Amino acid sequence: MRIAFIGLGNMGGGMAANLARAGHDVRAFDLSEDALARAESRGAKRVATAEEAVAEAEAVITMLPAGKHVREVYETSVIGKAPASAILIDCSTIDVATAREEIEKARAATYLMVDAPVSGGIAAAEGGTLTFMVGGTEEAFKRAQPLLESMGKAVIHAGSAGAGQAAKICNNMLLGATMIATCEAFAMAKKLDLDLQTFFDISSKASGQSWSMTSYCPVPGVGPETPADRDYEGGFAAALMLKDLRLAMEAAQAADAYTPMGARAEELYTRFAEALGGAGKDFSGIIKMIDDSWVPPEGAHAPAPPIGAKV
Ligand code: NAD
Repeated sequence: MRIAFIGLGNMGGGMAANLARAGHDVRAFDLSEDALARAESRGAKRVATAEEAVAEAEAVITMLPAGKHVREVYETSVIGKAPASAILIDCSTIDVATAREEIEKARAATYLMVDAPVSGGIAAAEGGTLTFMVGGTEEAFKRAQPLLESMGKAVIHAGSAGAGQAAKICNNMLLGATMIATCEAFAMAKKLDLDLQTFFDISSKASGQSWSMTSYCPVPGVGPETPADRDYEGGFAAALMLKDLRLAMEAAQAADAYTPMGARAEELYTRFAEALGGAGKDFSGIIKMIDDSWVPPEGAHAPAPPIGAKV
């Protein structure tokens, strides 16, 4: 199949390579020369513009940083430029409102389009083991499904337009909150002189268990190997967790949902990622802020915490 792939960064690069490996004719465009050169070396054909990528496409896949990039690319280079028969698939994590608007504009121009954000990081994008949460009509989902299956281990139809993004941010709001709660529990266990491996052995089999504890433990040397064992390098950056929490808070406001834990998680990740310079660390690195062992990198500026705040 002829596939236009726009956005070949950390995630898109691996996804496009998997499509090329599966025998598809992948026409790749990115603003970054490095990203284009890497995509070409991994089997895609590089093209000079997004319009050229989509010109004869049977499917258009975008993997871009945020809603404004998706809006711009669809407005200037996809709608009216790709053949009307092409299935449009946006895999970026963006706000629910923009996803719905873009799918509606595509529908008005007679295209089928889905939002299909992913769970799983760079390793899952490389390994073709992503989970896709898909929003759109049944017809659009059926068209997108086989392509998504060649890049992932699970492809789930979440509901109508925007439902993929809604599922993604609800999931990541839960993940941010459980990670912070897990960090707090380990930091307190330490102060109460509990052996941390023993606490893990107990809690991972008791009611406090969560994915943040058993699969992604924030304590080095405890549980399976995680970014904690690499000084919180690699993994899922705190900056990206913060981006998803901000999207979640926007959606909560729009839907009038009460999300006090999500709001607190956003506040704490803002402090860790922005004020304390932890943006590039894995999101489980926030444990170092919670147990007071974080040393901000040179130049990071930490404003005084609000009165009464522990963080
Ligand atoms: P990235 O910044 O590495 O890649 C984005 C790419 O888009 C860059 O190469 C950039 O040059 C390109 N780009 C930006 N504007 C463009 C335009 N107008 N035309 C063409 N190319 C353009 O980001 P990433 O880590 O690959 O993430 C992509 C999306 O996936 C984001 O929405 C992110 O939230 C989501 N996501 C990331 C991860 C992760 O672990 N990195 C996990 C799940 C979801």
